[in-house]
Amino acid sequence: MNQVAQPLWQFPGGLHLDKQAALSHHRIAVSTVPPYLIIPLLQHIGEPAQPIVKVGDYVYKGQIIAQCADAHCDVPKIAPIHASSSGTVSAIELRSVVHPSGLEAMCVVIETDGKEVWNSDDRSPLKCTGMTPEQLRHLVAQAGIVGLGGAGFPAHLKLRPGDIDTLILNGAECEPYISCDDYLMRERPEQVVIGARILSYALGGVKRCIIAVEDNKPEAFAALQAVAHKDEEQFKIATQQLDVVQVPTLYPMGGEQQLIRTLTGKALPRSHLPKEVGIVMHNVGTAAAIYQATKQRSPLLSRIVTVTGDAVEIQQNMEVLLGTPMQHVLQQCGLKADMARLIAGGPMMGTALHSAELPIVKVSNCLIASTAEHLQNTAPTMPCIRCGSCERVCPAQLLPQQLYWYARSKDFDKAQDFNLFDCIECGCCAYVCPSQLPLVHYYRYAKSEIRTQVSERKKADAARRRFEFKTFRLAREKEERQARHQQKRAPVKSGVKAEDKKAVIQAAVDRAKAKKAAPSEEV
Ligand code: SF4
Ligand code: SF4
Repeated sequence: MNQVAQPLWQFPGGLHLDKQAALSHHRIAVSTVPPYLIIPLLQHIGEPAQPIVKVGDYVYKGQIIAQCADAHCDVPKIAPIHASSSGTVSAIELRSVVHPSGLEAMCVVIETDGKEVWNSDDRSPLKCTGMTPEQLRHLVAQAGIVGLGGAGFPAHLKLRPGDIDTLILNGAECEPYISCDDYLMRERPEQVVIGARILSYALGGVKRCIIAVEDNKPEAFAALQAVAHKDEEQFKIATQQLDVVQVPTLYPMGGEQQLIRTLTGKALPRSHLPKEVGIVMHNVGTAAAIYQATKQRSPLLSRIVTVTGDAVEIQQNMEVLLGTPMQHVLQQCGLKADMARLIAGGPMMGTALHSAELPIVKVSNCLIASTAEHLQNTAPTMPCIRCGSCERVCPAQLLPQQLYWYARSKDFDKAQDFNLFDCIECGCCAYVCPSQLPLVHYYRYAKSEIRTQVSERKKADAARRRFEFKTFRLAREKEERQARHQQKRAPVKSGVKAEDKKAVIQAAVDRAKAKKAAPSEEV
């Protein structure tokens, strides 16, 4: 590793939060196999995968159970879904999943047999440098790996070759309470480092790879530094330089734009992607998943989840099979009877859940179980007093109070004029708001309404185009029919002269004679 002094820049806004992560400072425990798994078909950004199993089928651990509808698609836009344990498919139906709307989504339910029978016994590590970057990208796609930092973007879609010179691994886990990435880096640093090298290789080689860790995680930083030379020789062609860099502890440092700004000084223009400035960013958990897909031949079947809050006896990080009901995970942590609220994700960006029967999915990084006692501190909301505190902390340099006003009054056009979709829903504005306004709820509501309107408009446009095309087709067919009809009747209609009629009859007689004269030719 070539360790160099890394110049750092500061992004606008942000907050110094009370980390509270100390609550969950325990080693990674492994969750038991639950009696049944609820596996949603949509665990990534994009369209849901299509099931390829049916009720009653026996499925093996690691077997693909849902995938892109077009099985021959070269670069599928979705990540396939695997059975995370062996068992029998007992239902394919709508179930509640983690979503702010509380809507249901299609899930495959598997009754597990507890035997963990794999679909293949071959667990031998692959030699990645013996594969082409294209083959590696295909392997990542088949392993169902998505961004494990929370976004859920299919990882292989961020491995397209291009003018990428810097790969950043995001280890800046900045929300209070959450420590799953911290413990991954502490306990499995070689998975992160080798995963980073494999990612660099799959990108066709990058000049530099940076693993960014917040400076409140000294153990993770030291563990990564200790293994940063791992497999360096093998991957020399993939990256010229790999640096582990400490960044300041400032929320939301883990945001894509904020971390890029901090490490490179580059401010991404609105609606632009990092690859447009030669950068690709992946989460450290995604790098570890890529390590497991290649070195252990395991698709993405589990993830590390921080379980915390005052309604559990043991606050710890747990490796949990995807599809495990949250209740099963909480019970292993000593769930108390008086749990009053459950949040999926951190306190700043998480979603309050109405049930603990919801499944753990690829992006579930944290469960916060709170008692009623903890919730009693919630103050009532008051009108906005235009103090401007929200504006000062907004890392996206927006005007949160204006967005709130337009979202509340359902003036969605105006909200978009004020760049509503640049809001990363970090919650900094709501955190400092003296009126306790649930600002992010309003932004999510407005975004969801706008998306629904756009989708309805698209559907209406498609229906209109279909109707117009049908009308056009029917008119064209009618015209063609009329033209054929007229052609048939043309000699009669046009009133052909008697001489012409004679000529036509004579021509027919001649043709008949010619046929008689040469019957074989006619045959
Ligand atoms: S912080 Fe709250 S009260 Fe102050 S301007 Fe923003 S929304 Fe209004
Ligand atoms: S939630 Fe949105 S508006 Fe509020 S501070 Fe974060 S980016 Fe700004």
